[in-house]
Amino acid sequence: MTQTTAPVSDRTRVRREADRGRYDKETLHAIIDAAYVCHIAFNDDKGTHCIPTACWREDDHLYIHGSNGSRMLKVAAAGLQVCVTITHIDGLVLARSAFNHSMNYRSAVIYGVFERIPDERKAGRLDAFMEKLAPGRSREARPGDATELAATTVLRVSLAEAACKIRTGGPHDSEEDMSRDVWAGVLPMTTAGQTPIPDGPMSRMPDYVAKWAAD
Ligand SMILES: Cc1cc2nc3c(=O)[nH]c(=O)nc-3n(C[C@H](O)[C@H](O)[C@H](O)COP(=O)(O)OP(=O)(O)OC[C@H]3O[C@@H](n4cnc5c(N)ncnc54)[C@H](O)[C@@H]3O)c2cc1C
Repeated sequence: MTQTTAPVSDRTRVRREADRGRYDKETLHAIIDAAYVCHIAFNDDKGTHCIPTACWREDDHLYIHGSNGSRMLKVAAAGLQVCVTITHIDGLVLARSAFNHSMNYRSAVIYGVFERIPDERKAGRLDAFMEKLAPGRSREARPGDATELAATTVLRVSLAEAACKIRTGGPHDSEEDMSRDVWAGVLPMTTAGQTPIPDGPMSRMPDYVAKWAAD
């Protein structure tokens, strides 16, 4: 991805609330790295679809994977234009007027064409995905065997054409509403790990499990 503070194409230029637009690599990487899921929008002969799927980042590409039988992966692998989105909600913004309610968020929109990861590089990419989910786990879990790898498609899309949008802060009420006796402010929210649930008795607890609920 080109390091830029300006949009790289007309379709990535944030027009509405343009001051919330971000185009730098660090912001985009941070939004992707904080996500487990993206949504892939594409067109086929049945219409327009937007399908959620797991994702991870390596360098300047976003990766997805799944069964060879997935319609979404087959269409994406065929070289059609896609739009990938990621959204994190950081808070509900409660204003004094109904009209000025909002949300705090970090979001990314990525345009491009997926490319297929060749068979000999799939295992390494899937290890990277496992490391994102739980650092160290790719050395603990049984690796995919030849049959499992053959049944799996791994794709990546360049991060070269992307926009981010971020809203922070409190409500923007008009002057005449400021004296209204109604609670206004932000209800912050986050995605948080909860207490791990072991699948039967376990002889040891890896660090990524012990730290899960604290993260
Ligand atoms: C959690 C959340 C809740 C939202 N709720 C609302 C709502 O209720 N009503 C509403 O109108 N809008 C809402 N938005 C903002 C919405 O995503 C759009 O930015 C906004 O509607 C303007 O759309 P547009 O197509 O006119 O944008 P334009 O500014 O015309 O978009 C131009 C280009 O900017 C980029 N872009 C636009 N929006 C985003 C984005 N969110 N993230 C990254 N890149 C972007 C894309 O590349 C797009 O093609 C919300 C966003 C988030 C993340």
